[in-house]
Amino acid sequence: MKLEDVIELQPPELKASENIFLPAVLSGLGSTLVHLFRSVGGNVRTMQYPEERREDKPVLEQGMDVQRYRGVHRLNRDEQNRVKCVACYMCATACPAHCIHIVGDAAPDSWPDREKYPIKFDIDELRCIYCGMCEEACPVDAIELTYEYDIVGLTREEMVFDKQKLLAIYDQTIKRRPM
Ligand code: SF4
Ligand code: SF4
Repeated sequence: MKLEDVIELQPPELKASENIFLPAVLSGLGSTLVHLFRSVGGNVRTMQYPEERREDKPVLEQGMDVQRYRGVHRLNRDEQNRVKCVACYMCATACPAHCIHIVGDAAPDSWPDREKYPIKFDIDELRCIYCGMCEEACPVDAIELTYEYDIVGLTREEMVFDKQKLLAIYDQTIKRRPM
């Protein structure tokens, strides 16, 4: 790099009104008052969790009830109640946080519709950034993000969800609403 490539930036000149800060202070106060009157008028955005919950207040979008947040994952089952996953590793490959760990094995002879299935399927929910890339990558819709967001653990190990736990979340959420 040459010296003439260096661009020296100068701080912008402030106008007289910006130098006394009063207009900015009044603008801030105005914004506060707008929100105050909206709240008094019943347009309250604060939610009293846990008495009130987000899933009780669906957001309407294109005429459908949708939630705009993503919760923990579930591993879906197929119509024969088997894990739907075929251990293709697409989700683990797509995951930017590297928090999906799968060990695949040959499918049992009684499962002629697939070559492999996961004997181990772990997701570290603490490392996950809930981007949804795994869901997008899955060719058989076996992994989904649910609306469950208030699952806690006392240790980091508890927040690594294994196959059984991910299937249990499927069982808990399947009847509630479509994901
Ligand atoms: S939601 Fe994103 S970060 Fe989380 S497991 Fe899926 S791909 Fe990885
Ligand atoms: S969840 Fe889907 S993408 Fe991930 S390994 Fe299983 S089948 Fe492949």
